[in-house]
This record gives sequence, C-alpha cells and structure tokens, in this order.
Amino acid sequence: MFNTDCLHGGYRPENGEPRNIPIIQSTTFRYETSEDMGKLFDLEAEGYFYTRLQNPTSDRVAARICKLEGGTAAMLLSSGQAASFFSIFNIASAGDHVVSSSTIYGGTYNLFAVTMKRMGIEFTFIDPDCTEEELNAAFRPNTKAVFGETIANPALAVLDIEKFAKAAHSHGVPLIVDNTFATPWGCRPFEWGADIVTHSTTKYLDGHAAAVGGAIVDSGKFDWDKYADKYPGLTTPDDSYHGITYTKRFGLGGAYITKAVAQLMRDFGSTPAPMNSFLLGLGIETLPLRMERHCENAKKIAEYLNNHPKISWVRYAGLKGDKYYELARKYLPKGSCGVVSFGVAGGRTAAEKFMAGLKLASIATHVADAKTCVLHPASATHRQMNDAELEAAGVSADLVRLSVGLEDAEDLIADLAQALENV
Ligand code: PLP
Repeated sequence: MFNTDCLHGGYRPENGEPRNIPIIQSTTFRYETSEDMGKLFDLEAEGYFYTRLQNPTSDRVAARICKLEGGTAAMLLSSGQAASFFSIFNIASAGDHVVSSSTIYGGTYNLFAVTMKRMGIEFTFIDPDCTEEELNAAFRPNTKAVFGETIANPALAVLDIEKFAKAAHSHGVPLIVDNTFATPWGCRPFEWGADIVTHSTTKYLDGHAAAVGGAIVDSGKFDWDKYADKYPGLTTPDDSYHGITYTKRFGLGGAYITKAVAQLMRDFGSTPAPMNSFLLGLGIETLPLRMERHCENAKKIAEYLNNHPKISWVRYAGLKGDKYYELARKYLPKGSCGVVSFGVAGGRTAAEKFMAGLKLASIATHVADAKTCVLHPASATHRQMNDAELEAAGVSADLVRLSVGLEDAEDLIADLAQALENV
C-alpha cells in the first residue's frame, strides 16, 4: 500500500545489505570483458556502465516513484525542467505540435513557448477550464501530445484530467500530466486516463528543499503501435541503437522510458547526481505524513486569509466555494496541497509591503518544502510574461503565492497577521 511503498518501494535489501538505498557515487562500472560491456551498449543485457545514462541509486528511487504512481517504468532527471522537456521531445520533433494547458508553471511555459518553439515544435495554449469543443478544436493533424498540471503553479487551477485524457485519446495522442503539486499521495493521474506523469521532484517529493530533480513515469497504457506513423521514434528501428525498435523490444510498458534514457539522456545528459537521488528517496519516506500536514495547515491559512479584510481574494482548491473545489473533491479527495494563492488589497505595492513584513515565512523562489515561503510570481518566476500571458496563466499582478510548510499553523497565522497589520 501507499505508505509502505514510500518506505520500501524500489529497494528491498538482501541479507546484510544496507537498509537505506545505497549512494553509488561512481561514474563508471567495471566489466570482465568488452563483450559483456558491448551487450549493455546494445541494450541486450541489463546493467550499468556509465552514470550519465543510468545509476543504481537513481534507478531504485525511480522505481519507488514508479510504484507510487502505478506506472510500468520511470526515470529520474536532474531537474523538473529536464523532465518536462524530455517528456515531450521523446515523442515530438521539428514540425510537430502539442496542446498544453495555459496555466502551467512559468518555466515550463517559457520552455514550450520560446525554447522548444525554436526547435520547431509549436504549442497551442488552452485555458484548462475550456469546453470539450474548444479543447478538441486545438488539435491539428501533427499534434503529438497534450500537457497539463494536476494543480497548476501558481494559478492553483485543478486540471479536469478525464476531460483532457478523453480529448487526447480521441485524437490518438497521449496525455502528459505534471503531478508535482498534487504528488501521487494526492492524485494518481493514471487512474483518470493520463498516460505519462512528470514531476519536479524538487518540490514535495524531496520535501526539504535539498535537491533539484525531476522524474518521468510511464503508465504503459498508450498504444504507440496503433499510431505507429505518428511515433516512428518508438515504432521503427533506431539507427543509433543498432536498429532496435523500442516497442518491439521493450513492449508498451518499457518502450517510452527506454528510448528517453537510451537516446535523450545519452545525448543531453540531464543526469541526477546519485547523492541527490538518495536525498529524494529519503524525502519520499515521509511524503504521506508531510502532505497531510501541508494540507491541514494550508486549509487553516486559506480560511484565515479568506476572512481577512485586507485580502481581496483567495485561491485554494480545498476551500469551500473555490472555483476548483468540486474538481478537487473528485481528483484530490485527501487534500490538494500546501500552496495558497491570494491577492492583498492595494495590488502589487501592497503585496510587496506585506511580503517584506513577514518574519517567519521567507521570500524564496521555491514552493512545496518543509519551511513556509512566499513569492510574488509576476516579479519573479513569471516576469518574462506580458500582461496578456500573465492573465492566460492565471497570474494576476497582485498574486502572492504562499507555500505553507510544516510549522505550527498558529505561528504562521501570527506571522501573516502582523505583516498584514502594517499594510
Ligand atoms: N513543474 C512544476 C509544476 C513546477 O512548479 C516546477 C518548478 O517550480 C517545474 C516543473 C520545474 O522544476 P525544476 O525547478 O525542478 O526544474
């Protein structure tokens, strides 16, 4: 079950072996013969030869996340950005098109709208609250994937995963869901029809702001062979791997991740350090306990802010009356997450004054770790966006994003109260 898998998933020590996932801090692995090593290069045998591609510490932690999400294969990456990039570039190239929710993390938006556009991949950004007709109208013959965030950062919009999965599948493409804010404790997108899940493990999975990292998990459910002409990279021989056809050799459960490791990790090298993977594995051990507390604290704070005269609006899907309350009840029944967005009456200037007055919560470009932090996205993570893009991303100029940590809720509320007094 979930709590047990957080502790034991992906690693069961044999007699006399370390109880913790060992940190294999080695770039290379020794073999008796060149023939043995050759088999690894040809993907004919399983094993490790060079940490840029695979490392036992990282693989064990990837297997833990795979289990938690209910997938068939998973990989770790050096960052969430790398995970978002790989998840799409593994199945799309120049001349292709992707449909994405517009309320995604600012860094992901920039990656898609600017950097990947320069690589020849075009994105259509669509309001996640759109109708099914509007969503279907965004597809083109060259669309290769649909992308969205379970809980959007920082707009806190909850994705109607079933609606997005239905549209993706009716156009013969997979749905990729960034499950960073919800974590598999809160939502398992595969159970609602998503095909691939990504994570910035930097957030709740690690949980302690100790290591930047990413993960991709495959559900194994998307039938690449059925749409073979759309996904030739998976369904026709790969010349860079001696003619291997990934779906034939590794089946639907293993093809996507094996290709991402064998080709993209080989060529881009977005490899996590084994030490970081270890820290991630350790963090996951307490994920359920932490998420419960994050959600409990965030709900108390959202309620407090909602009743405060100097707060103009509050967005928290766990708050009754919130625009996403019903979707959250469906997709996030245990609680949404620890992040609360709100506006301070008086707009941007008031928001900045309020933030400067906080004593316990620190101003940080981070969310989703044990200690409470706060950010003004319009002047930080989303500052590359113009006003129209900010609006589409659900980020108003007065939006303050509070990442509620594991402190005593009373201390946090006292901090908010004293900072608001001076606004
Ligand atoms: N996805 C989401 C939802 C995020 O919040 C972030 C970072 O904040 C990322 C992806 C990118 O992850 P990283 O910062 O680990 O590269």
